Amino acid sequence: MEQIVKTKEQGNLIVISAPSGAGKGSVISRLLEREPNLWLSISMTSRQIRDNDIPGVTYYFVTKEEFEQKIKEGTFLEYATYNGNYYGTPRDKIREKLDEGKDVILEIEIQGALKVKELVPDAIFIFILPPTMKELRRRLVNRGTDSMEKILDRFQTAYKEINEVTKYNYVVINDELDKAVEKVHAILLSERCRVDRIEEVYLNNMEEEVHELLVEKDLDNSIREI
Ligand code: 5GP
Repeated sequence: MEQIVKTKEQGNLIVISAPSGAGKGSVISRLLEREPNLWLSISMTSRQIRDNDIPGVTYYFVTKEEFEQKIKEGTFLEYATYNGNYYGTPRDKIREKLDEGKDVILEIEIQGALKVKELVPDAIFIFILPPTMKELRRRLVNRGTDSMEKILDRFQTAYKEINEVTKYNYVVINDELDKAVEKVHAILLSERCRVDRIEEVYLNNMEEEVHELLVEKDLDNSIREI
């Protein structure tokens, strides 16, 4: 039977940002395990490969020159420089995935997020925060991979980034990972139910509907009588 409303089949574009140490990576990977209707865009970067990187999975790694060539070719939906390296979102697969009905996640920093906001104003912007600055400091120090100078740098950047939180639509505090994942998932599910996703409403006028119901009732009765 026809549903009362037909909603857009297209997925939503979701932008997720967070200062480093907020646990954005863990939230997103849990979310991907939980929700099959999601697709995470793989960015391109000119930064050095780290131990836990898998080329083609965590990022597409290119040289600075290759990245600049790709900027000229119009490869990116957005790109930014962050800590002296280029990062960009390749535009090619995004439209295809949205048309397949998938929600597409961009895990990007703030300058890039603001560019996406200009291009796609109805994208959904989520900011993930650590519970406190003290906890952020603890997480950055406990990683044990960075020098104190780098940690300080990240900490200062985090302060600046957190000031931009009001430019986003949602803020999720990552105090407990499971809860944070649940909240982001709830946002995605709620966004799917927005009335502005309705494309058509199939409502007969009420008299017609009542008449049809009566006829159906008669039919039911006559079937029962037989
Ligand atoms: P990392 O080098 O630690 O993996 O990432 C550094 C920052 O770059 C993170 O805030 C990450 O979200 C951001 N980033 C990753 N990919 C992109 C991208 O395609 N565009 C932009 N603007 N930022 C990105």
